[in-house]
Amino acid sequence: MNDDQLLRYSRHILLPQIGIEGQDAIVNARVLVVGAGGLGSPAAMYLAAAGVGTLVLADGDTVDLTNLQRQILHSQEGVGRLKVESGRDTLARLNPEVKVVPLACRLEGEALEEEVGLADVVLDCSDNFVTRHAINRACVARGKPLVSGAAIRFDGQVSVFDLRQAESPCYHCLFPEGEDVEEIRCAVMGVFAPLTGIVGAVQAAEALKLLADCGEPLVGRLLLLDALAMDWRTIRLGRDPSCQVCAQR
Ligand SMILES: [Zn+2]
Repeated sequence: MNDDQLLRYSRHILLPQIGIEGQDAIVNARVLVVGAGGLGSPAAMYLAAAGVGTLVLADGDTVDLTNLQRQILHSQEGVGRLKVESGRDTLARLNPEVKVVPLACRLEGEALEEEVGLADVVLDCSDNFVTRHAINRACVARGKPLVSGAAIRFDGQVSVFDLRQAESPCYHCLFPEGEDVEEIRCAVMGVFAPLTGIVGAVQAAEALKLLADCGEPLVGRLLLLDALAMDWRTIRLGRDPSCQVCAQR
């Protein structure tokens, strides 16, 4: 790190759990954020401010007026623009040292697996089960830690799936595919604006901890937030020995 970086990141470097070594790892890291919406906004902003070297932002959507209530990566003048381009501009204003790679597409198939393979940590900030399962499969296949977040109405959840740890479940262990899980979306159900900020910020925190190798990641634990009661609960998660995605590994 140069002198400017030592100054910019001094409040991280002062933390003994992070220090120069941890911040160096953050500055040299590549993080994939899938989804530049309610969760991806705060997650990407904190990751950029904290100095993650390369941020890959994947989202095929454009900014809509209904997004602005919570998607703080975007502003009024961004309406109609690609979210990844609006997001890249916001992140560049926050921290010009971060290289932002905008992918204006719904990342899937080989392209998804390739991007996951290049990343040190993957954040699932998407809003549908098809994408969530695809990201999980790619992370299991490539052995990459996945920080998963979700927010709907007043309910939020976060967990970390890291198959490098023997006891870690994967997303599929928790939410098996094909089970009749009802897809509930913000467009229909609504979502409390700061809830997405809280959940996205927790995802950024978990990603930075993984990069700096400090603390205890949310592996094997599902953190649940009821924002109406402002009540946090933690559920212990076990690995499903018959999971179709991770059991053969
Ligand atoms: Zn599994």
